[in-house]
Amino acid sequence: MKSVGIYIHFPFCASKCNYCNFNSYSDKNDLQKSYLQALLKEINLYKDPKLIVDSVFIGGGTPSFMFDGCISTLMSELRKSFAIDSDAEVTIECNPNSVTLQKAREWKEAGINRVSIGLQTSNDNLLKLIGRVHTKKDYINAVGIIRDSGINNINTDCLIGLPRQKLTDVKHTLSLVTKLNCTHISVYSLIVEKETKISTMLEKGELKLPKEEKSLSMYEFACRYLRENGYIKYEVSNFAKRGFECVHNLHTWQMCEYLGFGAGAHGYYNNIRYSNYKDIESYINASSKKSFVEQKEKLTPTQKFEETIMLGLRTKFGIDLDEIKKNFKIDLLKTKHNTINNLMSNGFLSLVYNKLIPTELGFTVLNKIILELVS
Ligand code: SF4
Repeated sequence: MKSVGIYIHFPFCASKCNYCNFNSYSDKNDLQKSYLQALLKEINLYKDPKLIVDSVFIGGGTPSFMFDGCISTLMSELRKSFAIDSDAEVTIECNPNSVTLQKAREWKEAGINRVSIGLQTSNDNLLKLIGRVHTKKDYINAVGIIRDSGINNINTDCLIGLPRQKLTDVKHTLSLVTKLNCTHISVYSLIVEKETKISTMLEKGELKLPKEEKSLSMYEFACRYLRENGYIKYEVSNFAKRGFECVHNLHTWQMCEYLGFGAGAHGYYNNIRYSNYKDIESYINASSKKSFVEQKEKLTPTQKFEETIMLGLRTKFGIDLDEIKKNFKIDLLKTKHNTINNLMSNGFLSLVYNKLIPTELGFTVLNKIILELVS
């Protein structure tokens, strides 16, 4: 029977971080209540009590910054509208300074069983520099509160490649997170997006990014350190204790269908990729219409093929050549015979049970490998 994932977007934050270009706002918090009403209407449009949901990801923005009672109202609407599997992974994203015991208990009661905390770094000076409004101590407190509420499946997001960040900062951060026994750790490299405060600071010469080789050594250190501490790298930036890989992430990389609700949320359902109105006001105003979707497109076989390669190669599961042949009538071992042989003999790819899997070295040049396979 068909099952899907669900993504919910809450575009509200206490303040805007210096590197952030996500769809999030810190000056529209008076709209939180009307936003929730619009969200409930959107969910209702897709109501199908027979549709099995095996993962829910409540992201943002900062969902933990929403008013008390918001998440339980949302979850009860989801349960009325869909068949949420009893084993479904239900995640909420939070920032350390907006976690309270009251909220964490509300989440637990509402069926949330996984929390993803944005720490980024344990160095308070760096946190200030990148515009985060919490400290290392807030993070430690938040983990304690979440555990006290009875939720033990905890992810922590970390950033590397920050201006003024040293390898020792990465060591201290990962040492803290592993000592707190998080089940999952994401280590992302800072990407400087246009029109963010950090890009202006870099342009003005007020800050400098670490050299590429320094950032690479931070990443290599993180991979080694986390492996030694019992975390499996199952995707370029994601590490988990055995059995704690994020179902929501895996869905995305395996091109599974999901419904996206909320401002700017994307969904992929019945072979249609869609995105909702991005700004909060347009999204709320769409409540009076029959749709919140701003754009949609049907994926062509070529798009699907390219995305299957691109997303599959990001994971330790790689791409299944039999599946590619079955779904796209393409025999990659024939059409890309020389390319694959070269990538394997240079140590970038391995072939295991007819699956092409990037090696450790391959993970560091993934974009190049993907380009060679899809061009
Ligand atoms: S908390 Fe997250 S979404 Fe909000 S401003 Fe910071 S990086 Fe952006």
